[in-house]
Amino acid sequence: MLPRVFQLIQRVPAILYQYRISRKRLESTMKKYGLMIDMDGVIYAGEELIEGADTFVRHLADRKIPFTFLSNNSANSRADAVGKLGSMGIDVTEEHIYNSAMATATFITDHYPGCTAHVLGEGGLLKSLDHAGIKLVDKDPDLVILGEGKEFSLNKVHRAVEMILGGARFIATNRDPSPRRAGWNNLGIAATAAMIEEASGRQPFVIGKPSPVMMRSAAAYMHLRPEQVTVIGDTMETDIKGGIYMGFKTILVLSGIADENQLVQYGYRPDLVVSCVNDINFPLKWWA
Ligand SMILES: [Mg+2]
Repeated sequence: MLPRVFQLIQRVPAILYQYRISRKRLESTMKKYGLMIDMDGVIYAGEELIEGADTFVRHLADRKIPFTFLSNNSANSRADAVGKLGSMGIDVTEEHIYNSAMATATFITDHYPGCTAHVLGEGGLLKSLDHAGIKLVDKDPDLVILGEGKEFSLNKVHRAVEMILGGARFIATNRDPSPRRAGWNNLGIAATAAMIEEASGRQPFVIGKPSPVMMRSAAAYMHLRPEQVTVIGDTMETDIKGGIYMGFKTILVLSGIADENQLVQYGYRPDLVVSCVNDINFPLKWWA
């Protein structure tokens, strides 16, 4: 009897170890989830912090909820985004940022290894493409890549059109429209893309939200499967539609572009609608 008791006691550490391993495995498969959060209209509106957004992000960090800020803006670098958030009292690192410039660089590396590209864009886009080893040229490129910028000229657009007509493929980092609001206005890539389309007769292949190309590469960046992702955004046509395409859960905030009275006009709907991010309660009901 006594040796049997000793044998059992000896096995205790092994049993506890097995228990810990299987618990960890269970946690990693059952409880893995994360948030992809849009910034403009969700965290800030133009240069103004949206009330409670700083508390919301602090809450995520305190509860160790994984999150990535997902931005269609390809001109701002990750450092720019971190700096802007920091100036509003939101402390994050560059690893928390995933933008359409990064998604574009990943797409081109996968699909056009060794290609040359001519860029109609600025800042973060140039940096991401260069970082990925993509050769940037001003003559006979394989690809013309359109991103945001403030230094456009009709001459630059004209040259891009010539390159496309000469055989270059046309890619856009996103197709965001202008918000068309005084004080919050920017040109939006859709306006420039329309100019090039009209002159070249070609439509760009679009990488940014709602394209599944960016949604999927962002999920891969977070090491999450589609059913583990919840996207939070203010725009039905990009954040919510992109999430629906991918099978993500979706939360619409009404602190930006979307108008609550017009939601019925869409053939798809978010899983949750809240007035601002700080109204979201955790854990989300679909995490149970
Ligand atoms: Mg937005």
